Amino acid sequence: MKKTTGQNRDITRKWRPATQAVRGGTWRSEHGETSEALFLTSGYTYDDAQTVADRFAGEAQGMTYSRLQNPTVAMLEERIALMEGAEACRAQASGMAAMTAALLSQLSAGDHCVAAKAAFGSCRWLVDNLLPRFGIETSVVDASDNAAWEAAIKPNTKVFFFETPANPTLDITDLQHVCDLARAHGITTVVDNAFASPALQRPMEFGADVVAYSATKLMDGQGRVLAGAICGTEEWVEETLLPFQRNTGPNLAPFNAWVVLKGLETLSMRAHAQSRSAVTLGEFLEPRVLKAGGHMLHPGLPSHPRHDLATLQMEATGPIFAFDVGTRERAFAVLDALELVDISNNIGDSRSLMCHPASTTHASVSEEARADMGVTDGLLRINVGLEDVADLTEDMDAALSKAGL
Ligand SMILES: *Cc1c(COP(=O)(O)O)cnc(C)c1O
Repeated sequence: MKKTTGQNRDITRKWRPATQAVRGGTWRSEHGETSEALFLTSGYTYDDAQTVADRFAGEAQGMTYSRLQNPTVAMLEERIALMEGAEACRAQASGMAAMTAALLSQLSAGDHCVAAKAAFGSCRWLVDNLLPRFGIETSVVDASDNAAWEAAIKPNTKVFFFETPANPTLDITDLQHVCDLARAHGITTVVDNAFASPALQRPMEFGADVVAYSATKLMDGQGRVLAGAICGTEEWVEETLLPFQRNTGPNLAPFNAWVVLKGLETLSMRAHAQSRSAVTLGEFLEPRVLKAGGHMLHPGLPSHPRHDLATLQMEATGPIFAFDVGTRERAFAVLDALELVDISNNIGDSRSLMCHPASTTHASVSEEARADMGVTDGLLRINVGLEDVADLTEDMDAALSKAGL
């Protein structure tokens, strides 16, 4: 067997995450191609009827149908699992397909789910609207309050669901504490790690059971495709996730998987460089924002209430931060005055992008929930890209001045 093929786990398992990002999960065909092949096929053919019968019976390895397996998608899954330090991973059509599958595959009517109140708008929508429709009870807690998690546990609590850092308020959850607490009560933790990616934070090292991704964000990192992923133990993926996924079909297209494979090769460099620029830009903005009566939400700055915890559980604090400029009018004025930074609600991109969460990413969340989670009308969220940070600083400086800040 070729040394560099992903099938030889004895070799690939020992590589560090940055090596996995470039090499993990590579399967080479008989042509020995350097870059991963793109298998645009929905089905497979077999030399004889017994071969396919054995595969469907689970008695032989091999592809049968792309809703069940696809070689390009399998390469991505293997690579993400290796970077995460997870036993198994399954790719999903989008981040929201991943969150929905991670929750619905394991929750049933009568179960209870505790979620962090600060969350991406659609994640909060799942908790507030979708799960209750199927008889699943939900509670939301202030994820920064360790005691609140314990207080929310009921006899039927089955899942803890949270993001850290959270979108868009950058709340930090104490991974070790919350995962330990869950384990002690037989509760499964589902961590949405989109804001960090495995390059900056690996929740399983702190005891997380399931790590779910929007791979649209840092993993693709260049704003091209929607993608998602779910990591867990082999047993959980096989017995809980796969029966749901195989029969409901939230699968990732091979082309999108291939694009994310290319993105992962540069993930670590991008995530660290963008994190550094986010700290530089945050340090520049903070005095200006404070002087105007606003406040910063930036886990990479000492002013963040959980700055020490963020730097302990993350390798770097990520490209995203938020700040409040008081009113929607002022927030819109800042956005409209930008010349370099785009007005866009995506994150993790190599371009700097800024948005007003209350009217975009969190527009689907009720006004009360928005207020409860700190998504104020003056809040702006920025994804800091790979541009020269001096150009970003100049652009922000000019935009704030034009907006009268
Ligand atoms: C973007 C995002 C999602 C949803 O991902 P999509 O790929 O857009 O479906 C989920 N969680 C978080 C934290 C996100 O930022």
